[in-house]
Amino acid sequence: MSKLNVIIVGSGLAGLTAARILREHHNVTVFERGDASTATGGQGIMIAPNGVKILESIGYDQNLAGAVPILGFRIYGKDGTVKEDIDVNLKHKFGADALAQKRADFRNELLRLATAPSAELGIKGSPAKMVFNSPVVALDPDEGVITLKDGSTDSADVMIVADGVHSRLRKVVIGQDGYETRKTGLTCYRIAVSVDDAKKALDGLPLPHWWEPEACKNRLSLIHSGDESARFVTVYPLSHQTFFNLSCIAKVGPTSKNDVDSWHADADLGQLADLFSDFHEPLRRIINASTEVKVWELQDLEPLPTWTRGRTILIGDAAHAMTPMQGQGANMGIEDAESLRLLVPGTPRQDVPSILKLAESVRKPRVEQVLSETRKAHSRLGVVERMARNWEFNSSYSGVEDALNARRKDEAEP
Ligand SMILES: Cc1cc2nc3c(=O)[nH]c(=O)nc-3n(C[C@H](O)[C@H](O)[C@H](O)COP(=O)(O)OP(=O)(O)OC[C@H]3O[C@@H](n4cnc5c(N)ncnc54)[C@H](O)[C@@H]3O)c2cc1C
Repeated sequence: MSKLNVIIVGSGLAGLTAARILREHHNVTVFERGDASTATGGQGIMIAPNGVKILESIGYDQNLAGAVPILGFRIYGKDGTVKEDIDVNLKHKFGADALAQKRADFRNELLRLATAPSAELGIKGSPAKMVFNSPVVALDPDEGVITLKDGSTDSADVMIVADGVHSRLRKVVIGQDGYETRKTGLTCYRIAVSVDDAKKALDGLPLPHWWEPEACKNRLSLIHSGDESARFVTVYPLSHQTFFNLSCIAKVGPTSKNDVDSWHADADLGQLADLFSDFHEPLRRIINASTEVKVWELQDLEPLPTWTRGRTILIGDAAHAMTPMQGQGANMGIEDAESLRLLVPGTPRQDVPSILKLAESVRKPRVEQVLSETRKAHSRLGVVERMARNWEFNSSYSGVEDALNARRKDEAEP
């Protein structure tokens, strides 16, 4: 059966998932501007049941990623006392757990799925070809031709643009300027701390309730200021419970700092410590002892007029960047990647544009609903409340075929 040639721009979370999905039946090449370890930070990422269901269907090994299943949610006051504890069996309810893992470990596992020998994964097809240190600087979306920084070109039957939140190629696909991400005024300081470092910082104080494994019970917890400032810290275990992720979110107001590439921007620890100086002492000590704190001014993107043009489709943050206030950004990218299963074995080259449009027609309305709910969380609610409110909608998605079947059923009903 003839295969399509596929080019993916960007080896982030969406691009690598797409590479794994498509390598089974097509020839896939991924162009990445960075090196093999790019797009990773030490901090955590939580993948919800909707994303995990898809990952499990492509052989994701949660043990290799050190992933910790999340078995419930908890809200704490800033004094460290429990306000609410929600025990949920996500696997039973939605068919998969939520998984918390280090971003770097997550991306490495996706890279393995995209590139490991097919026999190791028990699948057909060939590994995706990775081309690192190769920024794509131009694109002809109708013809499916890219130009690299060194001036060389390459072409494909399918062009997948997964170049992230600050996508350079987005405007070429939508055919107009003006769709850039905007800062929301919220700032997230991200820390990953090991158990050993936390114990050193606590200097004899016990591990906080939200951390100590017996008490933590694999919870994703939100420690909230409980006042109008709506400052909060989201905490969850990582790396087989040997690390903890702390995402400290506060309204700081946009800075004049260049926002491009700020995944890796170092934070001012003093500013962070001041912002959370009224929170309980163990948390303050852990924050103060952090050696690596990254800062990210939260940004999002207005819904785009289209994600597709010719034989090209935008996926992941390039299509729909959103803040982490529902923890759904990467999940949406994984769902986008899964929708490319519509490029079934033997798809003729001339059918590619209409299939990409079909994928967009499933994905875009759903993503816009998730974005709209995520934006509602910017003013007051934290990630845990917002996630709890939108559980059913977010987690019950089961892939593009199910979504299309549901749509056909709706359309057939009088
Ligand atoms: C603080 C924070 C916490 C978050 N937490 C969560 C969470 O818990 N759960 C969740 O689901 N989501 C979360 N998100 C969102 C999630 O991180 C993003 O949605 C996700 O990383 C987007 O993946 P992507 O593949 O689209 O982009 P990226 O992962 O950013 O990858 C883009 C890739 O494209 C490459 N690239 C860029 N330009 C070019 C070019 N011209 N040529 C070649 N390569 C190029 C880049 O180097 C990069 O490797 C969080 C976001 C933030 C800011």
